[in-house]
Amino acid sequence: MSLIIQKFGGTSVGSVEKIQHAASRVIQEVRNGNQVVVVVSAMGKTTDELIRLAAGITDKPNKRDMDMLLTTGEQMTISLLSMALQSNGYNSVSMTGWQAGIQTEAVHSKARITHIETTRMKEALSCGKIVVVAGFQGMDMNNEITTLGRGGSDTTAVALAASLGAARCDIYTDVDGVYTSDPRYIKGARKLEGISYDEMLELANLGAGVLHPRAVEYAKNNSMPLTVRSSLEKIEGTLIEEVSNLEENLVVRGVAFEGDIVRVTIVGLKNEVTGLASIFSTLAENQINVDIIIQSRTEIDSTSLSFSIKEEELEEALQVLKQHQTALGFSSLDYEVGLAKVSIVGSGMVSNPGVAAQMFQCMSQNGIAIKMVSTSEIKVSTVVHMEDMLRSAQIIHDSFSLEALQPYPQLT
Ligand code: ASP
Ligand code: MG
Repeated sequence: MSLIIQKFGGTSVGSVEKIQHAASRVIQEVRNGNQVVVVVSAMGKTTDELIRLAAGITDKPNKRDMDMLLTTGEQMTISLLSMALQSNGYNSVSMTGWQAGIQTEAVHSKARITHIETTRMKEALSCGKIVVVAGFQGMDMNNEITTLGRGGSDTTAVALAASLGAARCDIYTDVDGVYTSDPRYIKGARKLEGISYDEMLELANLGAGVLHPRAVEYAKNNSMPLTVRSSLEKIEGTLIEEVSNLEENLVVRGVAFEGDIVRVTIVGLKNEVTGLASIFSTLAENQINVDIIIQSRTEIDSTSLSFSIKEEELEEALQVLKQHQTALGFSSLDYEVGLAKVSIVGSGMVSNPGVAAQMFQCMSQNGIAIKMVSTSEIKVSTVVHMEDMLRSAQIIHDSFSLEALQPYPQLT
């Protein structure tokens, strides 16, 4: 008997019918002789709606209250799914994140899981119950309710899989796998049979919304095989593992893009060495995720510096920087909104020179201005104007011939 973790995303539990359908996929695994822990998201667009409700009251909601509000979404789903399982004659128990023993750091809205106390889940499993756990939520050491960041139910699923020693973690969603790019926008995007943890981690970090980046990190650190598959159709999904031999070794495996990027520029930073360290530690202490960083020496005694962040973090970043301006020792602060990031990812890049050159060339031939660049061994990212984002992704996808020989049907 194996233990399987199944995770159903918002669209896969978006209505009573869909919850019943998800229940039937759970029951199938149980009939195959497995123990099952199910992790669920909030129904459909519930989380967005809750955020809208809060926005109707204040544009600066207290983060603790916000977590209190958002965690109710997942609680609706666990109870309904558990009822669906029981009405089919199966024994089940619904658990909030804290009941399932998910402990996190003391940070609201994007906490990391620190430990999972599995006793209660294990007891329920040994009594023959299906355990239905609310994704995206946990509790810190002060018994405060926390959330793991948008899309965080994936992370709950993988973290449970790792701590319970599951054989597999299956992420059920409204797409049937991981694609070379987003098939809703990019012509010729096709489903990948397999992809490595590292490539998936880059893609997830670069805006491929199909998986929460931290979920991939957990899977990699625990060598947990992860599949992304359709909750509606019974077809193979994409297998994510250490080294993917399922696809011929493509130099570029995928093209990712993400809008709402801002470039912040700090001018007149006095002491380069300690200045850089203190700027980025100040931002990090305030949980602001900085992405691409470019430093350029403008004058003999001072430095200017640009970095990119997500637009949603701009206000907080500006506030934090201005507040510490004197201590950090810079003269002024500027920013540019309306930017986007377009990136390519592939393990094959390590041993194939000229990949970045091909990307830049096809962008310049199409008159696309590149504002920032960053690279790692297996990715190249560019920052462009928002209005160039989709066009860039398409021409890059075409240029590296990522389209299928037999294209998968386009999703609408
Ligand atoms: N419900 C949360 C969200 O919409 C968490 C998740 O679905 O993973 O972001
Ligand atoms: Mg998701």
